[in-house]
Amino acid sequence: MDYIKKAPITGCLKNIINILWTFSAASDRVGVGCFVNSCGKCAACKAGQEQFCEKGTVIVFDSKDYDGTVTQGGYSQAIVVKDHFVLHIPDELSLANAAPLLCAGITTYNPLKQYNIGKDSRVAIIGLGGLGHIAVQFAAKMGADVTVFGHSESKREEAAKFGATGYEILKDTEDFQPLAGQFDFILNTVAVDLDLNNYMPLLKFNGVFCYVGIPSDEIHLNLFSIFGNQANLTASNVGGIAMTQEMLNFAAKNDVKPQIEMIGIDDVPTAYQNILDSKVHYRYVIDMSTLK
Ligand SMILES: [Zn+2]
Repeated sequence: MDYIKKAPITGCLKNIINILWTFSAASDRVGVGCFVNSCGKCAACKAGQEQFCEKGTVIVFDSKDYDGTVTQGGYSQAIVVKDHFVLHIPDELSLANAAPLLCAGITTYNPLKQYNIGKDSRVAIIGLGGLGHIAVQFAAKMGADVTVFGHSESKREEAAKFGATGYEILKDTEDFQPLAGQFDFILNTVAVDLDLNNYMPLLKFNGVFCYVGIPSDEIHLNLFSIFGNQANLTASNVGGIAMTQEMLNFAAKNDVKPQIEMIGIDDVPTAYQNILDSKVHYRYVIDMSTLK
């Protein structure tokens, strides 16, 4: 199979343009995630890190493919894509649940794997939203001890439901001090400004603070905040195709499920406003069969 073209069933609404695909084919159930093309020859592609392709990775929406066509994501009526970028969806996953995993799932699974999170790890997840609630599940199912850093009491119970054993509300500098040197890995899932000078000392020696929620403003770091623990600061960009398949298989085997609300195409304006108002619990999935 070189190419596949099927009718869309569901799309995942992360924001107004980030629509992903899952399909119900006659035999295999498959999905297309964030990427639809890369050169396949450069060092990044050969390393299974297609998102860093030297020729430029073609993303699933609003991106110019190598033949000049512009990708339209899950809003398009059909999709043609190289088989390398088509992912198998295990039977245990519903198509609706698989759609957010193809974006939020790989975005959170990839850094946890890149930094070898496992049963001896102590992990903190900043934010319990569209990314965070999946990150907590993955980290917990990998065996890590997981703490959520939230901004209010309202999500304490839900954090525990997703597998977190700790929940901390960190506002003032003195809130951070009892947690100094406690964590191997901190994953920031929210695109807001954080005072890194408070967060970096929470890491153990050689610990890692990783951004997947990317704030638009520059960050400011006093290097003395990483001088005492040799902590590392990094960011993670989705994940490669092989890792995405591994993530789907892991989610199916370990019952990792995004919490979703299925909506029709006419509900998109209301849903988008709810996203802006932070009223989403936690991902919308569009039933594309409602697109007439
Ligand atoms: Zn490449």
